[in-house]
Amino acid sequence: ETLDKGLEKTKTNFLSKLSKAVVGKSKVDDDVLDNLEEVLVSSDVGVNTTLKIIDRIEARVSKDKYLGVDELNAILREEIAGLLSETNSGSETEFTVPLVRKPYVIMVVGVNGVGKTTTIGKLAYQFKKQGLKVVLGAADTFRAAAIDQLQVWADRVDVPIVKQSMGSDPASVAFDTLSSALKQNADVVIIDTAGRLHNKVNLMNELTKVKRVMQKVVEGTPDEVLLVLDGSTGQNAFEQAKQFTKATEVTSLAVTKLDGTAKGGVVIGISDQFQIPVKYIGVGEGMDDLQVFNKIEFVDSFFS
Ligand code: GDP
Repeated sequence: ETLDKGLEKTKTNFLSKLSKAVVGKSKVDDDVLDNLEEVLVSSDVGVNTTLKIIDRIEARVSKDKYLGVDELNAILREEIAGLLSETNSGSETEFTVPLVRKPYVIMVVGVNGVGKTTTIGKLAYQFKKQGLKVVLGAADTFRAAAIDQLQVWADRVDVPIVKQSMGSDPASVAFDTLSSALKQNADVVIIDTAGRLHNKVNLMNELTKVKRVMQKVVEGTPDEVLLVLDGSTGQNAFEQAKQFTKATEVTSLAVTKLDGTAKGGVVIGISDQFQIPVKYIGVGEGMDDLQVFNKIEFVDSFFS
């Protein structure tokens, strides 16, 4: 229900464009496919992924000879779900914390303002609700506001936070956080990192160093590198994904601010283009407004 509400704008926009794309048509022909291409691109699915979808539908049209426009929605839904399945296997893809080795470490990356801190807070809340012991690490030491904001969330969710003063070494904060988590026998560590993109080499060096230091404390960490993207920025989110995947190995995605935007199609394009699973979507500012990404529900909420 929250998902439907969160994606309302995307859905309304998409469905109205889709219905216009087939006006006066009874079968799917080249015109309809052209219109459909426009609908998908303007819904922020991204050009490459759009062409992939169009190709697949075209193949079905030529195989079946006749495809009525009344079947288009169902077919589109099938193809989009198929695409999402290629990167999001299973239906529920939340982080499952293995109890074999503690702590499970999630390093969170993303540009400032995309909702990184909020997502960390919401995640901490979810883990805590599951009875897990969470520790946050404020390794975005570049901005005082980043540390303060994370502290606000730590207080709100009531989980411990490890921080140092602004300008201190992020790797040192990561080291302290993991050490503290070990001492407290914590289950999950979530580390916030700096989100400066304007200096790619610095970003890459910083993230590499943070990882290296984490591995000194707990071998094999981080378990996840979660890239947070702001869904309402549409094509910007693609660009950020490109930059961050160049700077570090990203293992999963969270797409935020899908409420209040018609650009929800980015979720489809980004997961397809970067072949990285979307694990969470943000549909509001509250603690509860982070959803485990479920591809079937996601696609369904577009069409029903
Ligand atoms: P950061 O700089 O990346 O850490 O960004 P913040 O977590 O501070 O979030 C920036 C703003 O976006 C804040 O006002 C958040 O409340 C808001 N925000 C974050 N996630 C969502 C979301 O899913 N939906 C909405 N509507 N707002 C969000």
